[in-house]
Amino acid sequence: MVDPGTRHPPKLAIIGAGMAGILAAIKLTEAGLTDFTIFEKADRPGGTWRENTYPGLSCDVPSHLYSYSFALTPEWSHRFSPGEEIQAYFERVADEHGLNSRTRFGDEVTRCEFSQGRWHLETASGYRAEADIVIAATGVLHHPKIPDIEGLSRFEGSAFHSSQWDHDAKLDGARVGVVGTGSTAVQIVSAIVDRVATLSLFQRTAQWVLQADNPAYTEAERADLRRDPARLTDLHAELSKQFDVFARVVVDAESPEMAMIEEACRANLENTVRDVELRERLRPDYRAACKRLVVSPNFYEAVQRPNAELVTEQIECVEPSGIRTRDGRLHELDVLVLATGFKANAFMRPMELIGRDGITLDHAWADRPNAYLSITIPDFPNFFMINGPNGPVGNFSLIEVAELQFSYIMQLVDRIRSGESREVCATREAMERFEAARVEASQKTIWMTGCRSWYLDDRGIPAVWPWRFERFREEMRSPKLEAFDLR
Ligand code: NAP
Repeated sequence: MVDPGTRHPPKLAIIGAGMAGILAAIKLTEAGLTDFTIFEKADRPGGTWRENTYPGLSCDVPSHLYSYSFALTPEWSHRFSPGEEIQAYFERVADEHGLNSRTRFGDEVTRCEFSQGRWHLETASGYRAEADIVIAATGVLHHPKIPDIEGLSRFEGSAFHSSQWDHDAKLDGARVGVVGTGSTAVQIVSAIVDRVATLSLFQRTAQWVLQADNPAYTEAERADLRRDPARLTDLHAELSKQFDVFARVVVDAESPEMAMIEEACRANLENTVRDVELRERLRPDYRAACKRLVVSPNFYEAVQRPNAELVTEQIECVEPSGIRTRDGRLHELDVLVLATGFKANAFMRPMELIGRDGITLDHAWADRPNAYLSITIPDFPNFFMINGPNGPVGNFSLIEVAELQFSYIMQLVDRIRSGESREVCATREAMERFEAARVEASQKTIWMTGCRSWYLDDRGIPAVWPWRFERFREEMRSPKLEAFDLR
């Protein structure tokens, strides 16, 4: 135990100025810990909402839930507001809390090493900094997965990943191909189909789609919420409760509520897709919500437009003028959008992370990413992740997840601040016990019922929280100190 009198308030580094980094900075400031720097590789905050600018981008978690609980706003335009409005929200919150002056923009952290009781950070520009505690708020899905399709580099039109949208590419009147049928592709297709000359959607695997309308809030509704902020809080709480139900059913594949979700997806397909042959090609051969459930007000309408074609023949190769499918047909294209998802297991990497005694993250994660409660890694003291591996992701509000995780992290930070501990990280035993329980609980989840998805790790185990959300809340209430290596 260190004499509290000899400790200075800890110095912190937050990596990432997205939703989680902004949250961490605000909460640290509130707690009186103001000696921190945010490191952000891009030139402004916003994370995923800054990176993704594709047409139709929105968040399919309702906006009044996808908001910080401490910065609710009556101003959302829609139930599921557009991406640029969400980006503006994060920029505003960061600005209102004076975070921009605390952020080192445009300089990526490339190395982070723990030695002599402190973290030593190095950035791409060669800048060096030290910190007692590092908060990794680096996001989950941010490394684009570019498909290995022969000839892709020879395409003569514009080809780009959905998260690197080329706004110079002309869509109006163009022949556009979209590869992929995940949440991203579905939003893009619905948004652009009426602008383009032809839209070819290359589907490798069909998706279940849950229909959800996206009404705009009226000015009167917004005015009501402005007048009565308590209603905003109630709305947030109510939506959070509704999501608890969803979280409950995905971890119990045989629950009656899961059957209701599956039935709703089936009804959407049956009632909306008129052509029988098209309907069958759109029908998945696995259970709804096995892959991340796609939510859309109008995807099936979009693929039934006369200028839209669902292509289910496998892609053979890309040629200079388009995509050739296995049946020998050339689909001529001007624009090719790769809505092919992300490398879900990259997390902080490619940053070089070196913990106690020279242990590298690549070594610690040689098999796959792993952490105790998705927050702390043995031998990486005073390094805490928000939205790290194996936590609740997918159809949840990651903001709510991050707030709960940060309140847990804050309790560990407080131990360091008070001098109770100098170095805090999970024990290997605690992590292994947690992982074994997690793998066992995964067996009952909907994600294990027979489909390919980004949830699944190399063993086919979903890399997510497999229990109810109530259990997550409970676990995040306070750290169990016996699970920690405290020095
Ligand atoms: P995704 O769900 O991983 O979907 C990628 C799609 O690309 C799949 O249809 C996949 O087919 C296809 N694909 C990948 N490689 C291919 C190849 N070589 N040839 C043909 N098809 C290929 O990615 P995403 O749509 O970008 O979504 C990722 C996640 O981001 C979502 O699950 C969600 O969690 C999040 N997201 C959320 C929102 C929101 O509104 N909240 C919006 C967008 C994204 P297979 O199915 O056959 O693998």
